[in-house]
Amino acid sequence: MTNSNWRPQTALVHGGTLRSHHGETSEAIYLTQGYVYETAESAEARFKGDEPGFIYSRYANPTVDMFEKRMCALEGAEDARATASGMAAVSAALLCSVKAGDHVVAARALFGSCRWVIETLMPKYGIEATLVDGTKQDEWEKAVRPNTKLFFLESPTNPTLEVVDIAAVARLANSIGARVVVDNVFATPLQQKPLELGAHVVVYSATKHIDGQGRCLGGVILSDKEWIDKNLHDYFRHTGPSLSPFNAWTLLKGLETLPLRVRQQTESAGRIADWLAEHPGISRVIYPGRKDHPQADIIARQMKGGSTLICFDVKGGKSAAFALSNALEIVKISNNLGDAKSLITHPATTTHKNLTDEARAELGIGPGTLRLSVGLEDADDLIEDFDRALKAAG
Ligand SMILES: *Cc1c(COP(=O)(O)O)cnc(C)c1O
Repeated sequence: MTNSNWRPQTALVHGGTLRSHHGETSEAIYLTQGYVYETAESAEARFKGDEPGFIYSRYANPTVDMFEKRMCALEGAEDARATASGMAAVSAALLCSVKAGDHVVAARALFGSCRWVIETLMPKYGIEATLVDGTKQDEWEKAVRPNTKLFFLESPTNPTLEVVDIAAVARLANSIGARVVVDNVFATPLQQKPLELGAHVVVYSATKHIDGQGRCLGGVILSDKEWIDKNLHDYFRHTGPSLSPFNAWTLLKGLETLPLRVRQQTESAGRIADWLAEHPGISRVIYPGRKDHPQADIIARQMKGGSTLICFDVKGGKSAAFALSNALEIVKISNNLGDAKSLITHPATTTHKNLTDEARAELGIGPGTLRLSVGLEDADDLIEDFDRALKAAG
């Protein structure tokens, strides 16, 4: 049950709901592998595609179906496939967009595992990639080859919150008949709509804001029905990256509160970013939503709000960054993000430790760089935590 006139907050509570004959209020968890058929004729018809209905939970499951439909309603996408993790979504979206001999252009500021798929996995199967500075439109243009079929980017990026002009990349892709896949995790489906900006496929790690309470891994790929039917459908059936019904249910319930959480976390992040920017112990603050963000003009055009994440540099390098992290009491040290709990990480020694010093420098990740994911705690308590910890860390 979905009404296309619903505003996001309504779609996120009711969209995709499939009520059984029991009339349950809350969505049911269909923990089943298979489905029984009334007759052998019915099984035959279902396998032929002549009769609607479920066949096997690697293909589709009612609880997973509700999650996919609710995500479609939110994103304004025709169709979706949910996956067991964000990386299953990214790798499926990329692999199903290309074949041996094709070329990919990707922004180099990528989540570590996404960069591995592009730089290490795909070349094994004859798919070459060029990594560019995604903030420079001329680099995207110069990287194009006659066999370029796919553009891939993340915006804002992890961890330095760089912003890519999605509409400009989509115009370039359309001019050469290539497709654009956007990893929209950092923006969330509420703050940025890549499909409206011209992108063809959007992927999420639902592990982050969509769950929002640090429980389940999950992912989702959204696009037009034709691309999903032609390129993704068989891959899903036969390679099995399917989301478990229990995790789908958790994510489905997460969607009900997504707007409230993201709004609150973004508001707190804006306040904390402003506070950090004034602090003498902090040398740099990058926050989409502040006027001093290097791509503030693009943000004003393509994002509806700021971010729940802040990137900042502590004066004094690694030892100062570690001392601050260790002195925080409410904010926990963790490489995850989008959680109800505020989490801080030191990218150079965790999420981006596999990059060379040079590659880290290119991405703007220094020894004093920290990434903060703002949670649902009271912003005043978080600011007091930073104030006390910065004093304690000297
Ligand atoms: C976390 C994350 C992923 C991977 O998601 P998992 O659910 O951990 O597999 C991909 N892209 C971005 C931007 C992420 O933050």
